[in-house]
Amino acid sequence: MQFIDLAAQYQHLKQKIDKRIQTVLDHGHYIMGPEVQELEQKLAEYVGVKHAITCANGTDALTLAMMVLDVKPGDAVFCPTFTFFATAEVIAFEGATPVFVDSDEATFNICPQDLEKRIQATIAEGKLKPKAIIAVDLFGLPANYPEIEKIAKKYNLKLVEDAAQGFGGSIDGKRAGSFGDIATTSFFPAKPLGCYGDGGAIFTNNDEYAELIRSYRVHGKGKDKYDNVRIGMNSRLDTIQAAVLLEKLAEFPTELINRNKAADNYEKELAGKFKTPQVPIDFVSSWAQYTLISNNRDAVMAEYKAKGIPTMIYYGTCMHQQTAFSKLGYQQGDFPIAEKLASSVFSLPMHGYISTV
Ligand SMILES: *Cc1c(COP(=O)(O)O)cnc(C)c1O
Repeated sequence: MQFIDLAAQYQHLKQKIDKRIQTVLDHGHYIMGPEVQELEQKLAEYVGVKHAITCANGTDALTLAMMVLDVKPGDAVFCPTFTFFATAEVIAFEGATPVFVDSDEATFNICPQDLEKRIQATIAEGKLKPKAIIAVDLFGLPANYPEIEKIAKKYNLKLVEDAAQGFGGSIDGKRAGSFGDIATTSFFPAKPLGCYGDGGAIFTNNDEYAELIRSYRVHGKGKDKYDNVRIGMNSRLDTIQAAVLLEKLAEFPTELINRNKAADNYEKELAGKFKTPQVPIDFVSSWAQYTLISNNRDAVMAEYKAKGIPTMIYYGTCMHQQTAFSKLGYQQGDFPIAEKLASSVFSLPMHGYISTV
């Protein structure tokens, strides 16, 4: 049994994917070929935003968002401490300061009450300028955007949705990737929508941001290709990855149904034994991970292993516990919920081809 069975997906889509890749090999436009524009259109349609702009990976997508929002030294950007490293890394990469926020125990996502507390504390301290919030759709469940959007507005902060795991999820029919001022995703192979290498995308309804992102992703290009009007980066999605993603996106809605069936089955089987993941009313998860809480994690994982069922820990270390962020001066106990999650969560196999019978 595989934790994420990418081989089963490839077997299912092999003919279509092989044909798409062969088309790219034949036309030879390996960078920014026609499949890239086709994919950007289809992504924008699926997510329900005006602009989808592909790039090299999900970390670059977040970095491009930080660049567009002009995040810089002296700025505070609020993000959950219980997340993947890249969420916080991109803030520090711009020279700004990540201000960590505790989690909501039931959903694993950023806690709106603690977010507001940390914003108020940062304002009171007066050292950093509160600039933006990065909320994460952890394990596939969109963060509590109705509440977070209110807080962003109240304190005049920009809001970025890190939908690297959330692609396919929704709130009240509004899809992940459409929340906040800018949203980002990753097409790393193990994400809900993955390619066969690295890839990412940025979503926005803001024309000005979209134009800036298109410039930043190709060396800050201006109207003339060889007149570079700002300092950017090289972060294009290659055409073969776009070709793979076009076929995977077409199949994605079916896979999403299967993931949700699998999650329902897990809930029925495991609700009495573990604390199971809770999906609020009107929310849909893309189930990037199916994550349980156990006070006896090591023993439980060993039991599953003995049965041939792989398990993983996402995440065993919070951001405030990372060596790279030790100079921020956080203490053990500063984020009680997130710390408890980091020491008790584990995830079961989940993918679009998992048996649901
Ligand atoms: C995977 C991931 C990223 C980074 O994506 P890459 O494509 O690996 O660079 C960022 N944020 C979260 C929450 C992720 O899970």
